[in-house]
Amino acid sequence: MATSRSSPFLDPEVIKYMEDFNQLVMKEALQGGTDRKAKVIDFHIPQELEKIMKLDIGSEPETTDKMLEHCKRIIKYSVKTGHPHFYNQLYSGLEPYSLTGTWLTDALNTNIHTYEVAPVFVLIEKYLMEKMSSKIGFPDGEGIFCPGGSFSNLMAVHLARFRKCGPEIANTGLWGMPKMRLYQSDEAHYSLKKAGLFLGIGMDNVIPIATDDKGRVKADALDAQIQKDKAAGYIPLIYMATSGSTVLGCFDDLNAVADVCSKHKVWMHTDAAWGGGVLLSDKYKHLMSGVDRGDSVAWNLHKMANVPVQASAFVVKETGLLQKGNGLNAEYLFQPDKPYDTSYDIGDRSVQCGRRADAVKVWMQWKALGDSGMGERVERAYENADYFTRRLRESEGFRLVLSEFQCTNICFWYIPPCLRGKEETPEWWAKVGKVAPLIKAKMMKEGTMMIGYQPLTPKKFVNFFRIIIHNPLCDFSDMDLTVSEIKRLGDALTAEDF
Ligand SMILES: *Cc1c(COP(=O)(O)O)cnc(C)c1O
Repeated sequence: MATSRSSPFLDPEVIKYMEDFNQLVMKEALQGGTDRKAKVIDFHIPQELEKIMKLDIGSEPETTDKMLEHCKRIIKYSVKTGHPHFYNQLYSGLEPYSLTGTWLTDALNTNIHTYEVAPVFVLIEKYLMEKMSSKIGFPDGEGIFCPGGSFSNLMAVHLARFRKCGPEIANTGLWGMPKMRLYQSDEAHYSLKKAGLFLGIGMDNVIPIATDDKGRVKADALDAQIQKDKAAGYIPLIYMATSGSTVLGCFDDLNAVADVCSKHKVWMHTDAAWGGGVLLSDKYKHLMSGVDRGDSVAWNLHKMANVPVQASAFVVKETGLLQKGNGLNAEYLFQPDKPYDTSYDIGDRSVQCGRRADAVKVWMQWKALGDSGMGERVERAYENADYFTRRLRESEGFRLVLSEFQCTNICFWYIPPCLRGKEETPEWWAKVGKVAPLIKAKMMKEGTMMIGYQPLTPKKFVNFFRIIIHNPLCDFSDMDLTVSEIKRLGDALTAEDF
């Protein structure tokens, strides 16, 4: 006969394992991972790393000592994104409180679809959504955490379509409907195109609108495009405004956008996945002035607010629309005869069934830091970014991609000595385009630093560096070090490298 098993968490060997594990994580992932003297990355090509990692799962159980060794290896070869010299896209920094929030979420391992199984977490998510709605300026707003900003943007298109076409679209689909069009600036995130791909609207019907020299959408061009499409029989569905574009950090003029959207009754969604953090700061929230005139917002707290990945809020102005647009009232899950107000069963507001309680880590951090602490971090990032930009302006060989930056991603080329003082022909620019990848490869090999780079083909820009500054540990000395590190690695390049 089977004997009843006691909890593994009472087993002395497991207890020892968990204690050793905690110490290991504290020492090597957290303290080691934020130590300026330690490497950001211990890079190996996939074929090498595969061998190092001993991935093969055997038929016999592994000992706890061996399991600790695996954990140690996982930590050693993972990138230390909390390190003050990790400037890759688009998250960095790590706060102890949000981290414990994540751990709590997993330790209690629940699912935020019903109040029944997640009473505390449902209340936390509802509270946070009210708080974020009020920061945005939606007095009756509500929302949910989504698995990523791309998903939030997709939800915005879905709700815009539902509001425009009603249950007809929900039940019979696109058949027989006029063609629809989605709009974004040519600086905006590619996820709107994915929404077109995924929702059957078609990527050809996602129309990019031209931007000005600061990367803001030209509102008159948007107006003209919508008029033209209306005349051709299309339904203009949504404009996805950008607050903090992923590459250049541009903010659309949301009031100008809102004027066009309200004129044509087009849903205005603001993609603030990256720049939404400015709403936490009295000094910088003006960058999103007019957001309250829109219909929905995507705001990733795992980016500018340093919460662990993922923490993507999708907030809607109109109460009840998430439920109407997504709710199917599955009988096995959302029974109406529960002993509490079942409007707290928030799971049907999503297209997901089960959903992680991402709100917990956000609430833990916000609670611990207060509004002031959350805002200070954003302001500190801007101070560092302003200082860094000044340093680039006065240092030989650096060239800014825009004359001014609105966000804390700063984009620049480095022209090494071997390419300076030459005529700037297309061939010369092609060589400049090789500089960032060459320097980054050296950085990764030495493990000193990580900074992203990319070309920007619509603007005909060859590869340039894009540094993302929002780790709260960063100070001016880190900014100085970044300038000197790029110089050090770049100045070692010779004509033969090109
Ligand atoms: C990062 C980003 C997204 C996508 O967010 P994910 O959480 O990575 O899906 C969308 N828009 C902008 C502007 C972004 O920077």
